[in-house]
Amino acid sequence: MTKPQYSVSITDLAHFCCRSGDLNPVSEQRTPTAQEGQAGQKMLQSRRPAHYQAEVSVQAKFETACTTWTLKGRADGVIAAPKYLVEEIKTTYFSQARLPATQQQLHLAQTRLYAALLLQQNALTSIEVVLTYLYLEDETEYSFQTTEVAESLNQFLHLCVEQFGNWLDAYSQYLDTRNQSLELLTFPYQDYRPGQRQLSVTLYRDIRDKRNGLYHAPTGLGKTTAMLFPALKQLRAQAIKQVWYLTAKNSGQKSVKQTMNALQTQQPSLRVLFLQAKVSQCPCLVGPETEPEFKLGNTPQQCRFQTGYYDRLEQARNQFRERSNFSDADLLRLSQEFDLCPHQLSRDLLPWVDLVVADYNYVFDPQARLQEYLTKQSKYISLLVDEAHNLPDRARDMFSASLSSTQLMRIEQSVSSSAMKKAIKQLQKQLKKVINQTEDGHQLGTTFSNLLKSTTDRLLEWFAESNASTAAPELFEPLMQLWQFATRAQTFDDKDALIRTPEPGSVRIFCTDPAPRLNRIADGFHSVHYFSGSLLPQAYFSRSFSQTPFASQLILESPFPPQHQRTLIRPVNTRYPQRQQSAPLIAQTIATLWSAHPGRYLLAFPSFEYLDLVARHLDSSLPILIQPGVGKLKQRREFLRALEQTEYLAMVIAGGIFAEGIDLQHNKLSGVLIVGTCLPPPSAEQDLIKQRFDQEGLPGFDFAYRYPGLNKVIQTAGRLIRSDEDQGVVVLIDDRYTQNQYRRLLPIQWRPSVVATEQKLRALVEDFFLPIDV
Ligand code: SF4
Repeated sequence: MTKPQYSVSITDLAHFCCRSGDLNPVSEQRTPTAQEGQAGQKMLQSRRPAHYQAEVSVQAKFETACTTWTLKGRADGVIAAPKYLVEEIKTTYFSQARLPATQQQLHLAQTRLYAALLLQQNALTSIEVVLTYLYLEDETEYSFQTTEVAESLNQFLHLCVEQFGNWLDAYSQYLDTRNQSLELLTFPYQDYRPGQRQLSVTLYRDIRDKRNGLYHAPTGLGKTTAMLFPALKQLRAQAIKQVWYLTAKNSGQKSVKQTMNALQTQQPSLRVLFLQAKVSQCPCLVGPETEPEFKLGNTPQQCRFQTGYYDRLEQARNQFRERSNFSDADLLRLSQEFDLCPHQLSRDLLPWVDLVVADYNYVFDPQARLQEYLTKQSKYISLLVDEAHNLPDRARDMFSASLSSTQLMRIEQSVSSSAMKKAIKQLQKQLKKVINQTEDGHQLGTTFSNLLKSTTDRLLEWFAESNASTAAPELFEPLMQLWQFATRAQTFDDKDALIRTPEPGSVRIFCTDPAPRLNRIADGFHSVHYFSGSLLPQAYFSRSFSQTPFASQLILESPFPPQHQRTLIRPVNTRYPQRQQSAPLIAQTIATLWSAHPGRYLLAFPSFEYLDLVARHLDSSLPILIQPGVGKLKQRREFLRALEQTEYLAMVIAGGIFAEGIDLQHNKLSGVLIVGTCLPPPSAEQDLIKQRFDQEGLPGFDFAYRYPGLNKVIQTAGRLIRSDEDQGVVVLIDDRYTQNQYRRLLPIQWRPSVVATEQKLRALVEDFFLPIDV
């Protein structure tokens, strides 16, 4: 049997074997970008003499008990005579005096690995090892040079190769065990639900044939299991190395956990990582996630999970190596046993797990994306994007950025350097000019963009040099926002527009069409599979994710009998100018619904303002619950608890967390009433989206308003029928539902009836809930 083969870069080997010391957030806050690194290398290479050979490939093959692996790399520079010399070039924002020792050690280890391979390839007895830094602030260079002899370099190489070879052997044995257990793994439930098998089989084939897919899979079909099961099976077939399951909300991660628990009864060998934000994983933080605080007397610099992190990492990794089963509880245990930051530990174990569950951010958001890892590994990863109807809006946000004069003022007030104050004032002046000249949809000028970049670079350098992170921590947030805006400005293109935001003195780079950027990201992966309970009309979602059609598209029917839901339309004008007049009518409809059949109802409104208006017309004896506003955590918990009561009229905001993000499966609803069509309110952003798609010959109003609005309606109504036993009514209050452009976007099985009077509404609701004689 041929042994599995691996290819490892010299950089990765050095990181695996030679890192020591602390996690150093300050040094990691400002590292050169990949482009800066490449440009810096080229610049230094061009300064070298004519006989200097740039980019010299080195490689060596190694064999272990279970694997063969190749160590590869390209030395930045080599001089063959009179003395053989190898040079490694790094770009940095640290002057020589401030260069962290651990960084230098790591880079030196990398240079020594190049030297060891060159020494072997050229049968040398000694070699000059040079580590050069290009200091990006003034483009000066500083170097560290040593003469190394064959014996010590060979010994060093041998130690690294042995350590990593042992690790690969253990990993390869684990993969054998995992594959055998996946071979035996069966679907975790007795039967497939209608449509579930078709979804599973389609995905299995799409991964096998490396096809991207778009799957509309209504609620109740068991889509999490239908997607995870075949994807895990494909790990065994070795079409892919990893499965990434992306979610829009935490509730999506819950269903992955449920599926994994169901699979656990067969005890498969699987390693699973749930990637979390620092605030939700950090053991040093207390308080709510929105406003976390460090435990008394603690700061990130004093954290015991960071000090000496890399000195203890190997012990933890060795324990991980022994485990053929790994989940989030094991990660927590390891981090506690070895005092390791759980957030960083999850990143260090990432290459060695089978399934990664994470928020969209980790792949799509330029600020949060695991860039380094994904650049190398994404071609071996199949991406499953759950609740994908959320992605167009989320992606637009991720690919947009804002800047305000208030942010700049905060920075200006906090910096102590007068030169910096002057530079920010100049930027403020330019921002004001841009705002005064900006019509919404305006392009970003190069003068402003260049000034942004140069000022931000100077500020960040000053921030790092002056230790401002500890002296003026309040600077960090506005500075990061400025950096994000300046970085985004560098990639401004014809899909972007510069707009004024409602906040005075503020502009936003707005991404009108995220598809090209999503497409570029998706192209890096083995295959990408978007799925959701509401991905209709499919042409809209297909164009929102990609400019080219999907190779695989699937529309599945709801598994629930259509007669379990009665959909009724009350044609009331709910448009903004008519709200005062419509509020008593809506209150009347709610009262009719309640008197026809008391129970649990979700009433979704387009805004708090409208909700309050209607609430004022409701009889105070009704069991009304009102969704608390953002940030009121205690009240939100109480609201959720109140939803366990047997009777209520819960007034919530359509598209909000309580309308879409909660699963009331064990807390059955009698009905969902939706006020309005959930169209996004008119705004400069939505109008730009409309224009953008109109220009392409597509229905711009639908793309900007109607499709996203109706999707929210379907999502909200989808809270009603979550299982075979659920039955109830959906009442849509708006006269636009009587128009074909709106009605045709409702799921076909809803077959809504227009109800002209309250008497008729009462009769239909009473009739629906009448017990059936058997
Ligand atoms: S444990 Fe918390 S404070 Fe410590 S390094 Fe990790 S995230 Fe930072």
